[in-house]
Formats: sequence, structure tokens, C-alpha cells
Amino acid sequence: MTRTVYLNGDYLPETEAKVSIFDRGFLMSDGVYEVTSVLGGKLIDFAGHCARLGRSLSELGMPAPCSDAELLAIHRELVQLNDITDGMIYLQVTRGNPGDRDFAYPPADTKPTLVLFTQNKPGLADAPAAKTGWKVISVADERWGRRDIKTTQLLYPSMAKMMAKAAHVDDAWFVEDGMVTEGTSNNAYIVKDGKIITRQLSNDILHGITRAAVLRFAREAQMEVEERPFTIAEAQAADEAFITSASTFVFPVVEIDGTTLGTGTPGPVAKRLREIYLDESLKTAI
Ligand code: PLP
Repeated sequence: MTRTVYLNGDYLPETEAKVSIFDRGFLMSDGVYEVTSVLGGKLIDFAGHCARLGRSLSELGMPAPCSDAELLAIHRELVQLNDITDGMIYLQVTRGNPGDRDFAYPPADTKPTLVLFTQNKPGLADAPAAKTGWKVISVADERWGRRDIKTTQLLYPSMAKMMAKAAHVDDAWFVEDGMVTEGTSNNAYIVKDGKIITRQLSNDILHGITRAAVLRFAREAQMEVEERPFTIAEAQAADEAFITSASTFVFPVVEIDGTTLGTGTPGPVAKRLREIYLDESLKTAI
């Protein structure tokens, strides 16, 4: 089925949405994005994604393409038009470009390019792999230094995903100066003696919207949380591990660099946090 997508004010069949080859998103990866999950036809944590988009845009001196209210209306229209019950909405804003290729930014009043499309994923919250967990390998973190900005420069994370595939595992955790930063497209956690440990926020990692919600829910449930870096060796000796992202929610990790964690099955903390996260975020879905 041909999707209806959104491009700069128009709802179009996916085959008819065209962007200039001079667009800086295409030439320079000069763009930012967000992925918002849809469960039961409703948007999960839309306000969080909107707030982070605003921050990414302002860090790059890029104008907002429209208001948050307009963004919400576009998301909802796409959910309707594409009949999405469970899935994701991908949003991308680029700096556009009225002229030729140039390292310098175009004039400040250049209209940004705004693209949104849906991804239909029936049963997104019931992914069978969530019951068995992921295996991960560690790889050197060779990304740029502003990982807190959600840019479309995703080549190195894609390379890391391919390294994981080549190693017959599900994902990769980045390691810098001996410490885990995060996963290819998710935040990384370990659990030891009931304590949840995850790297603190800085420019080294993306400030996950799911991370913020999960840590809030964990603290509300009187679970102990420590925000600090950890090594792969510490992770391998942990009782359990998991990742979070908007499209995987809370997802168990059962093997790191060939070492099985605990019993090799999803741990109780990850399972409980997944349940709490799904329950609580469905309550505030819009
Ligand atoms: N870290 C990275 C590098 C990511 O790409 C993502 C999501 O794409 C996340 C963390 C998780 O962020 P969120 O929970 O907002 O989806």
C-alpha cells in the first residue's frame, strides 16, 4: 500500500514527495529527526519528542518549521490517513537550501524542509524478541562529539549495526575511553543488586525521551538509580541489562560480547520496567 507522507505543507503519496538535491539534509546531513511511537492509534510522549526537537534545532541554529500544535496536527493526520494503530512516525527537519552547495549556511530566513512519514508496525509493544532479549557486541564509539543533538548523521551507527549483524548478534554498544556510552539507537543500562545504572546525561549520549520517562517511573517505584558510566566488564558481571528507545520501549539484553548475563533470559527489573513504562505512557498518550 502506498503511504501518504507529509512534505512542507502537503500530504502526498510517498512516490510523489520530492526534495531538492541541493537540500543540505541530502548534501551535508544538516538535519535533525525524531521518532514517536504510536500505540492504539495514540502518540507516546509527544511532548517529550517536541521538546527535544526544539532543543536540537536551537543547538544548530535552525528555525522551527512550524509550531508544536501544528506538528501535533500533522502527526495525527498521518496516523488517520495511513490507518496506523501501532507503529512509528518519523519526522525530519533539514536546513533546506535555496541555492548551490556551500559549507556556509544559507540565509537565516531560508525555509527548512519538513518531512514526516509513518511506519506501520502491528503489535509493536508485543515484539517476540522482548521475551528472549538481545545479544550485543561492543564497538569503539567513533561518532562526533555532539551526540546530544539528534542529527541525521547516522552512518557510523549504521556501520555498528552491520558489525553486529556480521557477529550474528542484534545490536552494538559503543565504548569510549573504556566506558559504555549507549547503543546504536538506544540508551544502555545494567542492573546490579537491584540498582539500575546508566550513563549520566552529557554531550556524549542522546538524551533519550524513553530514558527520562523510565528513570522517572523507576524512582517513583522506589527503585534505586545511579547515573554514571560503566565498563563492558562491569556489564558482563551485572545481574541484567537492557536498552530503551521510543520504538523498543524497555528491551532486555541477555548477552554482551559473548558473555551470557545472569540466566540468559530477560531479568525481572527490565520486565517490570517495560510493563510500567507501557502502562504509564499509554495513560498519557494523545
Ligand atoms: N541513543 C541513540 C543514539 C538513539 O539514536 C536513540 C533513539 O533513536 C536513543 C538513544 C533513544 O532515544 P529515545 O528514547 O528518545 O528514542
